[in-house]
Amino acid sequence: MTIELKNIGKSYDGNSWTLNGITTEIESGEFFAIVGPSGCGKSTLLRMIAGLISISEGEIEIDGKDVTNLPPQDRNLTMVFQNYALFPFLSVRDNVAFGLKEHKMDAEEIKRRVDEALDMVNLTEYGDRKPRDLSGGQRQRVAVARAIASDAEICLMDEPLSNLDAQLRGKMRSEIRMLQQKLGLTMIYVTHDQVEAMTMADRIMVLHDSKIQQIGTPLEIYNHPANTFVAEFFGTPRMNLLEATYDARLNKLVVDESLEFDCEDGMDRDDYIVGVRPSGFSVEKAAGRSNARVVNAEYLGNMSIVELELDGGDEIRVTVDDDMNHDWMINQRMLVKPQGIFYIFDKTGKLFAKGGSSNGTSRSEEEFVATAAR
Ligand code: ADP
Ligand code: MG
Repeated sequence: MTIELKNIGKSYDGNSWTLNGITTEIESGEFFAIVGPSGCGKSTLLRMIAGLISISEGEIEIDGKDVTNLPPQDRNLTMVFQNYALFPFLSVRDNVAFGLKEHKMDAEEIKRRVDEALDMVNLTEYGDRKPRDLSGGQRQRVAVARAIASDAEICLMDEPLSNLDAQLRGKMRSEIRMLQQKLGLTMIYVTHDQVEAMTMADRIMVLHDSKIQQIGTPLEIYNHPANTFVAEFFGTPRMNLLEATYDARLNKLVVDESLEFDCEDGMDRDDYIVGVRPSGFSVEKAAGRSNARVVNAEYLGNMSIVELELDGGDEIRVTVDDDMNHDWMINQRMLVKPQGIFYIFDKTGKLFAKGGSSNGTSRSEEEFVATAAR
């Protein structure tokens, strides 16, 4: 089941656009995440795809058929929302089986699907309970089980894990992903959590400012962020963004007197923003030379996150691997140098080029994504 969004727009008040110009095609069997900060229109877009709210502009096609004006039940999809709705008088089993009975599936098949779905969400023992006898997290898992058990080929989920504790969230992430693959579901999954999007999705759509900022695989988004918004949104700690001036004579981008970045090609303007991930700096106690002071340090066991103030006034966050030196002292003088890759954005925030080399000592980007997926 492919889903095609053609220039979708939504205005709630007839004056301003909550969403504007949303165009993309979601492939059959794809896990497609919609991610962005709270209030950017994620739920609005999902509800339009579901048919729960009207579209102000544009068209939606499912498998080549225009469904823009069809009601939800005619769109071959199932949904899990933040505010899940269970039937209070039905048992957990019957809640999960509800959609299946409506579809006149035979009893054996229904039992098999319900058992499997309850097992998947760790609720096998709770099948005979009523929703009121469950915790909030358990109720949410019933809602997920209902979507899983359904025979709809498209599944829409709106932050389904946001009420669960961290441990269960991690487990449910991988189980939803496994299930989606096993059943070949086309999944549209809304989240504000960049790690969730990174670890679960085949492709990610980043929404902000009522527009699509970028669509790409997790690696593409992380390695080639289209702009400073996307660059800062993905990755923890956040990417550092530093204003820099291009010095054509030196062929360098200059942040301040003691922090410069080598450019490979000539640049065509004077002002840029240099983006550096926290692993993209080396920090050392250097005899004599220094260009920054330690403002704060958090020791995390395998690495430290160190905040430094550059002599030019900018503050940066740097991750320092291993236990090399965790007796960071506030106000200690340090020498900060670029290592590995950095990003060059133009003044409007658009990605202009990537600089540096990836075979430095910084943790590679591929490795970051692999680590996040574990
Ligand atoms: P998200 O899910 O990304 O947090 P929403 O889609 O819920 O964002 O909301 C996007 C914007 O639309 C917000 O500014 C919100 O206040 C507004 N909005 C959402 N629903 C309605 C509504 N029914 N009427 C008017 N404005 C709404
Ligand atoms: Mg929402």
